[in-house]
Amino acid sequence: MTASRLTATRLQGIPPTIFTEMSALAVRTGAVNLGQGFPDVDGPEAVIKRAVEALETGANQYTPGPGVPALREAVARHQHRNYGIELDPMTQVVATTGATEGIAAAILGLVNPGDEVIVLEPYYDSYVAMIQMAGGVRRAVTLRPEGGSFRLHADDLRAAVTPRTRMILVNTPHNPTGTVLSRDELGAVAEVATAHDLVVVTDEVYEHLTFGIPHVPVATLPGMFERTLTLSSIGKSYSFTGWKVGWATGPQELVGAVLAAKQWLTFVSGAPLQPAAAYALDELGSWPSELAADLRGRRDLLCAGLGELGLRVSVPDATYFAVTDISDLGWPDGDTFCRALPERAGVVAIPLQGFYDSDAGRQLVRWTFCKRPEVIEEAVVRLGKADLSA
Ligand code: PMP
Ligand code: GLN
Repeated sequence: MTASRLTATRLQGIPPTIFTEMSALAVRTGAVNLGQGFPDVDGPEAVIKRAVEALETGANQYTPGPGVPALREAVARHQHRNYGIELDPMTQVVATTGATEGIAAAILGLVNPGDEVIVLEPYYDSYVAMIQMAGGVRRAVTLRPEGGSFRLHADDLRAAVTPRTRMILVNTPHNPTGTVLSRDELGAVAEVATAHDLVVVTDEVYEHLTFGIPHVPVATLPGMFERTLTLSSIGKSYSFTGWKVGWATGPQELVGAVLAAKQWLTFVSGAPLQPAAAYALDELGSWPSELAADLRGRRDLLCAGLGELGLRVSVPDATYFAVTDISDLGWPDGDTFCRALPERAGVVAIPLQGFYDSDAGRQLVRWTFCKRPEVIEEAVVRLGKADLSA
């Protein structure tokens, strides 16, 4: 659905989310959906059981404002166990309805009209919508393609700062490029944020889905905890993308701003899934790294398949996604290619140009490998039989 004449100006000009659009196209055409990132195998059975138990034993009314204490405590333990970050679960953790609500509440709670927010380009689409809804202005810093990877340059970041800059919105591991920001790249974020007294909001939903290069949370860099709000969720780490259980962590001042907005968005988040998410974090701490090891094999399967078809593929260090450059195929842009692809090949992928202000993403296309190997193989077979040139 697109915005109509009646839609408020704060939403005008924001295109409908491409993920919903392309998944609908996949359903309509019977195509293999390598577009939207959601696994086709659910997360651990024991966690589902815990959710059922919670439903049956009375976790069916409003939770406390910041979320179920068991979840806040489990999130605090998770941050400590994995990263050595100490959090007070009562004041420095808030449960959100997925990281998506965390993003919305962080931006609404921290960005004033006219404030500039630096985002890494390609950016995740909900950042753009929320910055506009808050009356903010985005300043995109392009991750530069370099040796099969997409990198953040400190000078680009420095050049994006103006007197109106309020926030740097980071995403690591990064959707859609699969980049895991290095210590040096994060050091540049820290340097710029400190020099200009900026808040950093960091979306780390793919924190556990890395393939060898460790994820470094922004909040662990020297001096950064005090100015960093970290967002994550159960969706990717435990293959429950439909649960929409997330959390925001950081200093009380920043978490308080999230809560100030969150209380008017959803008031509180769904009760029965929070104890189950707490159980997953506490009792199945190694499950996400096992998932990552398995996902790594599927990454290799997809990247090898796309490579054999002659597509130029960047092999990602993390996430669900691989990016190809389709310049050689002769299409005007990735959007035209992706809209033709279901008919041509029976496969759906995501064009990246909508995630860029600059022209740098015009020929880039994202493919997910969070599907079963046989689904990935079927997609590659279909692509191999089709004429992919314009
Ligand atoms: N941030 C990024 C970078 C994502 O890819 C996604 C989508 N899964 C989200 C946030 C949303 O997470 P959630 O499903 O927990 O709302
Ligand atoms: N984050 C997923 C993706 O990038 C699904 C879309 C969404 O959560 N809005 O494909």
